[in-house]
Amino acid sequence: MKVAIIGGGLAGLTAAAYLSEQPGFRGVLFERSPQLGGRAFTYEKSGFTLNYGAHAIYGLDRHTLSDMERELALQFSSKQVDKRKVMYEKGEHLTPAPMDFVNLVKTDILTTMQKVRFVGEITAIIANIHQIKHYDTLGDYLAESGAAEDVKELWEHLVCSNFFITPEDARRVPGAVISDYYHNLFLSHRPVNYVLGSWAVITNQLRDKVVHSERWSIALQEGVDGIRYEQGKYWLKTKAREEEFDRVVFAMPVQQVTKLLRGTPWEPFLAPYEHNTATEVMVYDIGLNHVVARPFSYISDMNHKLFISDVSATDHTLVPEGGQLLQGIAYLSDESSGGDTDRKAYLDEKTQQMESLFDRHYPGWREAVAVKRVSKKAMVQSVKNIAGNRLLPNRIESMPFFFCGDGCEGKGELAERAFSSGRKAASLLIAEAKKAIHS
Ligand SMILES: Cc1cc2nc3c(=O)[nH]c(=O)nc-3n(C[C@H](O)[C@H](O)[C@H](O)COP(=O)(O)OP(=O)(O)OC[C@H]3O[C@@H](n4cnc5c(N)ncnc54)[C@H](O)[C@@H]3O)c2cc1C
Repeated sequence: MKVAIIGGGLAGLTAAAYLSEQPGFRGVLFERSPQLGGRAFTYEKSGFTLNYGAHAIYGLDRHTLSDMERELALQFSSKQVDKRKVMYEKGEHLTPAPMDFVNLVKTDILTTMQKVRFVGEITAIIANIHQIKHYDTLGDYLAESGAAEDVKELWEHLVCSNFFITPEDARRVPGAVISDYYHNLFLSHRPVNYVLGSWAVITNQLRDKVVHSERWSIALQEGVDGIRYEQGKYWLKTKAREEEFDRVVFAMPVQQVTKLLRGTPWEPFLAPYEHNTATEVMVYDIGLNHVVARPFSYISDMNHKLFISDVSATDHTLVPEGGQLLQGIAYLSDESSGGDTDRKAYLDEKTQQMESLFDRHYPGWREAVAVKRVSKKAMVQSVKNIAGNRLLPNRIESMPFFFCGDGCEGKGELAERAFSSGRKAASLLIAEAKKAIHS
C-alpha cells in the first residue's frame, strides 16, 4: 500500500516510523519546510542549541514516548528537572510547586504551618481527581466543590502550567481531561523530564528509520497544495510533482488541513472542526554568555501567568562552556478578546512582566545576552483542549483519510498528543491492511 504523509512534525514522523517497519507499506513523507520537526524543531545559534518550542516531557514513565522507545528501539537519555528547584511565586512569596510531598517537606521557604496547609491543598486535589471527571469542566467542579479559594487557585494554576493556558481557559477544560491527565502525572515517578540534547535526538532517529527502510522517501520543501481523487487513487500536488497514493495521512494542524481541503468534496466533513481555537503563548528565549544566577530550574509567576525555565540547569549540553539558556513563556488569552490596539498593549504588558520576572531572579541578564528570540505568537497546541473546541478524530466516518497531530484525538496533551495520535494513525492503517488481506 502506498501512503502519503503530509507534515514532518512529531506526529508525521511517528506515523512514518511505525509504517516504515511494515513490509506492506511504502510511501512519501511531505514536509513544506526545509527541515523536519515542525514546532519541535531544533536549531543552533552562536553555540546554543535552541528548541523552537517544546522542552519538557510530562510523566515520562507513563508517556507515549516510553512506548515508542520500546517499540521502535529509540535510544535517548533524559534528565528529571530538579524538583527542589521548581517554584511558584505568588505576590512576594515563593512556594515549591506541588510535584511531590518530599519536595514540600524539604523546603526551607515555608513555615511548618504553611507546609501543613499546602499539603492539605494538594491532598485535596489528589483526593478529588476521580470526582472531577463527572463534571463538564473544571470550572463547574470548582463552583460546586466548596473548596477554599487557595485550593481553587492552585488547581487553576496547575492546569495553566501544564496546558499552557490562562486561568479563564483552565476553568473550561473538560473534567474528564483533567482527571485523566493528573491521574497520570501524579502517579508518575518522572513528572518533568528533558530529552538530553533536545528533541532532535528523537526526530533524527525517527527520520533515520524512515530513510533506511528504502521503501520510503522524505520530500523536504515540498508542501502539498492540492489533492484530488481519480479512479481509486488520491493525487497529491506539490510544486515539483503530482503523484498518486492509496491512502493519505494528514499530520498537520487542523487549521491547515481545513485549508488544504477547502473546495474539495471532503470540505463539509471538516466543518465541525473549523472554528477551533489554538493554544498560543509568548516565548522569550535568552542565551547568556555566563551563568548570571541559578536560583531555580523553573519559576512560575502565579500573578501574571508566566514562567521561566533554566533549560541549561537540566541540560548543560545545550549551551557553550559556562553559558546559560533561559526560556520564558507567557500564557495568552485568545486574540478575539480585544481589538488590534488592545492586543498590542496586552502583548507589550506581557513582555514587561516577563522582563521584570527575569530582573527579579536573574539580575544582570540584560548585559549577558548572547542570543535572544522573542515570539509573540507561538502555537503550542493546534486545538486548545477546552469545552467548545473539538479534537479531530484519527478517522472521520465516511471520510477516506487518517489524521494525527496535537489537534487530534489521542493520549496526553501537547507533544504527547502528537506522538500518540501518530502512533494511532499508523496502527489504524496497519489494521486496515491486515483486514483487507484476510477478507
Ligand atoms: C513555545 C512552545 C513550547 C512548547 N512546549 C512544550 C513542552 O514543554 N512539552 C510538550 O510536550 N509540548 C510542548 N509544545 C508543543 C509541541 O511542540 C507540539 O505539540 C508538537 O510539536 C506538535 O507536533 P505536530 O506534529 O502535531 O505538529 P507540527 O509540529 O505543527 O507539524 C506539522 C508539520 O506539517 C507541515 N505542513 C503543514 N502544512 C503542510 C503542507 N501543506 N504540506 C507539507 N507539510 C505541511 C509543517 O511545516 C509542520 O512541519 C510546545 C510548543 C511551543 C510552540
